Amino acid sequence: MMFKGYLKVADRCPVCREDLSQHRADDGPAYLTILIVGHLMAPTILWFFNAFRPDPLVTFTVFTVGCVALSLYLLPRLKGMIVAIQWAKRMHGFGKSA
Ligand SMILES: [Zn+2]
Repeated sequence: MMFKGYLKVADRCPVCREDLSQHRADDGPAYLTILIVGHLMAPTILWFFNAFRPDPLVTFTVFTVGCVALSLYLLPRLKGMIVAIQWAKRMHGFGKSA
């Protein structure tokens, strides 16, 4: 587990002691999360409305819970992906140890 909290990256990998403190994920994970959730949910809400003609409160509830749940699921995984790409490409501070 490279995180010591929900999104806080541990300074060192608990398994191999690799220094992870040099990552610079910044806004990348949030950007990718919005990109993916937006492109999934925008067509889905249109299809959902055309298929079921639901009550507005039902639509609001389903898509609020769906967007929040999907975002919370994707955010730490995409942050892990960005830190992993930076590590693999020796970007930022990761280049010094090579
Ligand atoms: Zn490791």
